[in-house]
Amino acid sequence: MNIENLQQLTQFQIDEQPHIIVNKEICKTCDHRACVQSCPANCYTWDEETKLLSIVYETCLECGTCYIICDKGALDWSYPRGGYGVCFRLT
Ligand code: SF4
Ligand code: SF4
Repeated sequence: MNIENLQQLTQFQIDEQPHIIVNKEICKTCDHRACVQSCPANCYTWDEETKLLSIVYETCLECGTCYIICDKGALDWSYPRGGYGVCFRLT
């Protein structure tokens, strides 16, 4: 199963309260922006013109990769509140 297949089997209960908060000032100093490359759901985007990182937390798969790979402490990461977030439908 690849990521496209997996995304077809997911639903999201979107919480208005983000479960990932980015310190964008720290991101301006980042020399690799590994979060952009490693997020399987393409939640992160870097804008070279504005020098700002943006995130779409609503489609996060809650894998934790970005939190592990960010070596600058720029992410305040938690699971969504109970009842919210991704729901994998495997049947
Ligand atoms: S979240 Fe971390 S890895 Fe991503 S751009 Fe910011 S500092 Fe870099
Ligand atoms: S937890 Fe996984 S899916 Fe969610 S934003 Fe981070 S890398 Fe992307």
